[in-house]
Amino acid sequence: MIANIAFGERERDVLASLCGKGVHWRELMLLYPGATFTRVFDFYRDATFIPLRPNRCTLSVAQPIEEVIQAINQFRPDIIVGYAGYLEMLFRTLAARSVRMHLPRLVIFGGEAMSDPGRHLITAQFGVPLIALYNAVESFKIGFMCEERADYHLHEDLCHVKIVDGNGKRLPDGVSGEVVISNLVNRATVLLNYRLGDVAMRTTRTCTCGRTLPLLSAIDGRVEDILHLRNGTFLHPMAIWAIFKHRGEVLRYQLIQHEPSRFSIRLVTTDEVSYQRLLPSILQDLRTLLDESARIDPSFHTRLETPGTGKFRAVVSMCRNDKPEPS
Ligand SMILES: [Zn+2]
Repeated sequence: MIANIAFGERERDVLASLCGKGVHWRELMLLYPGATFTRVFDFYRDATFIPLRPNRCTLSVAQPIEEVIQAINQFRPDIIVGYAGYLEMLFRTLAARSVRMHLPRLVIFGGEAMSDPGRHLITAQFGVPLIALYNAVESFKIGFMCEERADYHLHEDLCHVKIVDGNGKRLPDGVSGEVVISNLVNRATVLLNYRLGDVAMRTTRTCTCGRTLPLLSAIDGRVEDILHLRNGTFLHPMAIWAIFKHRGEVLRYQLIQHEPSRFSIRLVTTDEVSYQRLLPSILQDLRTLLDESARIDPSFHTRLETPGTGKFRAVVSMCRNDKPEPS
């Protein structure tokens, strides 16, 4: 972790120039409760001396959107960091409801892909520059966008990235395929040729910013379904994950939203006894998060199949509604 942090200067340099402040900017992070990010920052705060830290504030994606907007207005961040899907819904809510929110100088997303309409909304309609960081909990820093805000420069000396086809054969630059990483700084958990589950391509283009770190382009990461709730708010799938994260007996879950207030929850647990034991508290936690009067049909499974596309979706919404209802 200490070896990794030293390379943060590369990213800090871009952030500083895009937000127009050299140091001490105000950074607001929208995360799920107990996110690895938070634990990493706690460790750095306790174990390192970093003289010029950003002023950081963390909010949960499980909080009601009104509270999040209010907290943003109070904290007045220069930079907002969050999951692509959540940020997109936040800005859609602002546009649809004409709510006033303090606008940051820069928005940073990660964790999943940002849709083109979402990108356009934030950059063109709200006029806020948008960049992404490419990180993974398994290996931390992988790539970062520069001032050009197009492709990702790879932290090639921290994490080697190669692109392979379905048979694991290396693909040439300019051809899109699966991202396979080898982490070069983890001494305890060595990752060699590890599939991240993302699709991207390496490019031979040289960047106008002058950085010579190689470029990765067109990352097609996880695309998660946002849940639009009956009361007009929305929920990011990471908020659902927070319910199961600490319940070790739950091996896999899938929440399906059939109607705004009708769900089914499919659970794979260690055995049926633990399923019966855990179910009442899981249902209560889900109702608290989703809707107290929601109908949630549970079912026990010994396995949940990954579809042919290879991407298992833990949260699926059958109610396609891209815009929150104006309130
Ligand atoms: Zn560049």
